[in-house]
Amino acid sequence: MSLLQVQGLAVAYGDSRVLWDVGFDMAQGEIVALVGANGAGKTTLLRALTGLVPARFGAMRYCGTDLGPLKAYERARLGIAMVPEGRRLFAGLTVHQNLKLGATARASREGEDHDLAFVFELFPELKRLEHRLAGLMSGGEQQMCAIGRALMARPSLLLIDEMSLGLAPVIVERIAEAVRLVNRDRGITVLLVEQDVGLALEIATRGYVLDTGRVTIDGPADELLRREDIRAAYLGLN
Ligand code: ATP
Repeated sequence: MSLLQVQGLAVAYGDSRVLWDVGFDMAQGEIVALVGANGAGKTTLLRALTGLVPARFGAMRYCGTDLGPLKAYERARLGIAMVPEGRRLFAGLTVHQNLKLGATARASREGEDHDLAFVFELFPELKRLEHRLAGLMSGGEQQMCAIGRALMARPSLLLIDEMSLGLAPVIVERIAEAVRLVNRDRGITVLLVEQDVGLALEIATRGYVLDTGRVTIDGPADELLRREDIRAAYLGLN
């Protein structure tokens, strides 16, 4: 079943057009990678989905609902949560307080303690650091906290922007495993935006390549990983 359908999406900042006629779809339960070079428009696409920037043209439907007229908080209530690039935690609040803030995106805060327990089970590191100020944690710990905060919103679609940026490979693998787990065990659909194309296509089942604001290539992740043009352009391989 189609969870998200995007058609003919165009976004601009003032006179500067960033996305052109972007179309893609996601089925319930998938992990989809959205990859592309620096400045291709990946973050802008996520911001258009969450309602942080307006669409100039096009349609976005989520579970059949037209997202166009909905404000960011209304889209969050529908189940769309984002882990932003750079994590954007409240540095002066504790891990616990940051996580609790994630639940404010929901219509009802019932079951919050249960969700908190789930996040701590997923990332036991966070339980140990529960009362630490978020700003004092390592990049990897902050990324875990940012993912945990998004999960506290009890999303059906998780948008993750630059999950691996600046993190050590061992931490990236740890976080990637957690993403696979929430997808498999909780059925959360994941849209993964990554500059590390190899990593994203390893985690995802399907992928889209965004090139200067347009989707230029799409297909099953394993096929994309084998394509000569993708290997040359994004993986530094021939
Ligand atoms: P990166 O991985 O570097 O974040 P990206 O693919 O996510 O790249 P975007 O951040 O969406 O790309 O940026 C796409 C283009 O839009 C870039 O040229 C960028 O300079 C421009 N842009 C992004 N945000 C704004 C803004 N608030 N105002 C004006 N231009 C912007």
